[in-house]
Amino acid sequence: MCGIVGYIGVKDSLNVLIDGLKRLEYRGYDSSGVSLLCKETGNIKTIKKAGKIKDLEDEFKKNKPCKSHAGIAHTRWATHGEPNDVNAHPHGDCFNKISIVHNGIIENYRSLKNYLAGKGHKFVSETDTEVLAHLIEHFYRKDLIDAVKKALLRVEGTYGIVVISSDHPDMLVAARKGSPLVIGRSDNEMFIASDASAIIAHTNQVLYMQDEDVAVLTKNDIELSKVESAKSIDPEFVEIEMTLSQIEKGGYDHFMLKEIFEQPESLRDTEVGRLDKENGTARLNGIKDYFKKLLDADRIVITACGTSWHASLIGKSLIETYTGIPVEVDYASEFRYRNPIITERTVVIVVSQSGETADTLAALREAKSKGASVLGICNVVGSSIARETDAGIYTHAGPEIGVASTKAFTAQVMAFALLAIGLGRKKLLSFEQGLSLINELEKIPGKVNEILHDKNKIESICRKTYKKKNFLYLGRGFNFPVALEGALKLKEISYIHAEGYPAAEMKHGPIALIDENMPALVIALKDSIYEKIISNIKEIKARKGYVIAIANKGDKEIKDIADDVIYIPETKEEFSPILSIIPLQLIAYKIAVMRGLDVDMPRNLAKSVTVE
Ligand code: GLU
Repeated sequence: MCGIVGYIGVKDSLNVLIDGLKRLEYRGYDSSGVSLLCKETGNIKTIKKAGKIKDLEDEFKKNKPCKSHAGIAHTRWATHGEPNDVNAHPHGDCFNKISIVHNGIIENYRSLKNYLAGKGHKFVSETDTEVLAHLIEHFYRKDLIDAVKKALLRVEGTYGIVVISSDHPDMLVAARKGSPLVIGRSDNEMFIASDASAIIAHTNQVLYMQDEDVAVLTKNDIELSKVESAKSIDPEFVEIEMTLSQIEKGGYDHFMLKEIFEQPESLRDTEVGRLDKENGTARLNGIKDYFKKLLDADRIVITACGTSWHASLIGKSLIETYTGIPVEVDYASEFRYRNPIITERTVVIVVSQSGETADTLAALREAKSKGASVLGICNVVGSSIARETDAGIYTHAGPEIGVASTKAFTAQVMAFALLAIGLGRKKLLSFEQGLSLINELEKIPGKVNEILHDKNKIESICRKTYKKKNFLYLGRGFNFPVALEGALKLKEISYIHAEGYPAAEMKHGPIALIDENMPALVIALKDSIYEKIISNIKEIKARKGYVIAIANKGDKEIKDIADDVIYIPETKEEFSPILSIIPLQLIAYKIAVMRGLDVDMPRNLAKSVTVE
């Protein structure tokens, strides 16, 4: 959430900053801005604009940027103050000597603002961030690093910041607590950004900043210390594997569509090296030291947000089915505030695509402070969650840029399936059962590919329904969370009200909503509860509802009952969510396109939710 880029070096900084911002735009896009340390005047020039980055570029025609070799830039996802020109970042002090970009929330900004206003500071925006700029100014006595540290010690909340000062044109000062920042190093230049995608066009040598780190960047050097101490820390750079083509659209109209179509490959990447046919089990080296803890657990608690929460619900059913260990799933944002019961035998699993989700990170820390072992399932290697958990499973789905998560969801379900099989083989599963599950998992990427390339009716179904105002998504058992996820996709990118519901619960309330204007998408696979879901469809039809069924190939009965049917291949019931979600992702995508909406940048949303 929110994208930060900083540059110091020999190139013209504006190009590097704007190019980086464009790669980060998925993290926030309600406004953007740059501050440049101008070569000729020695002053800071700040240009900012509400809207997308192209609006900022248009602004450059009127308000010309200066030549510069150092600067900072930001694309915002507003938390405090509406998204307008003034609230856009960067923010400055009273005399335009200091400029700052910030990701996070300064929780005590009101009291700080009152204090600073009392001292004569003049505020122009409604943001919490501007307070930090003035607080640095308040402490500034020619030593920028010292002033930044003193200010941060007074701040409650979260931050990833980069600060420049016209008194120090040769340095950027950065710090993080709770919001990610990664530094990139190359010859005669340094980069800093919210994530590596803004940097990899220039270098693959990166350093992930840790909480409470303060970094001082000059074009040839980095100095690392902690907010509370001046003692320097050795900077450790690592090589990242991400390539530029992975984060570009590669011929697709939208990142979301590219990522939907990448799923056969991303699922294969999640499985690779983990299908152990010899032993009929899953090999998960990352958590092998915690296997015994998991097997001895009195309870497993999974905590996550949004799409990851839906994947976790499927994870719960998988683990309980194969192991008999009780599993609970909690919203990460609720977990922390309800004094969860954690014993030493509780294992907590946190799930997050980015590994930076603020609510999930807070839940992780809460669980750790209560003595639980905490494992992670996340996609971004080296992310905060990956670092702070005791052990974990990477989903290896590759960079996900589309704000509406697709390939991360299927990869998370796959990771849970592997975990459940691995544990299940020590509990309820025989070798033959384990092997048969592993063999089936191996076929899943091919089956996803089949759905993606099937000339099915999705296009015509979307044409019929894209103007509707409400949708109902129904599923049962393993596919109830898929109904939730399908509805979420439609809400996120089409702005259509959609409810996911367990199909049998419909008669306890939502059935009152059914009429010819409310399409019901029903996942009706040939599984253990097929007959029950057929009855639910008939209940809708009896009330003149319009039913779109997701059914298994070869199901002849369903086409006489539902209005439209999308067929998918058969698989084991517990793996079916990985297949049944694919048409629902495509439906959400196509409806959003038909409604003329910006699929990759849906309103009010942003990727990687790094604020609570
Ligand atoms: N809290 C800051 C604001 O509302 C930063 C938000 C962000 O992370 O984009 O401007």
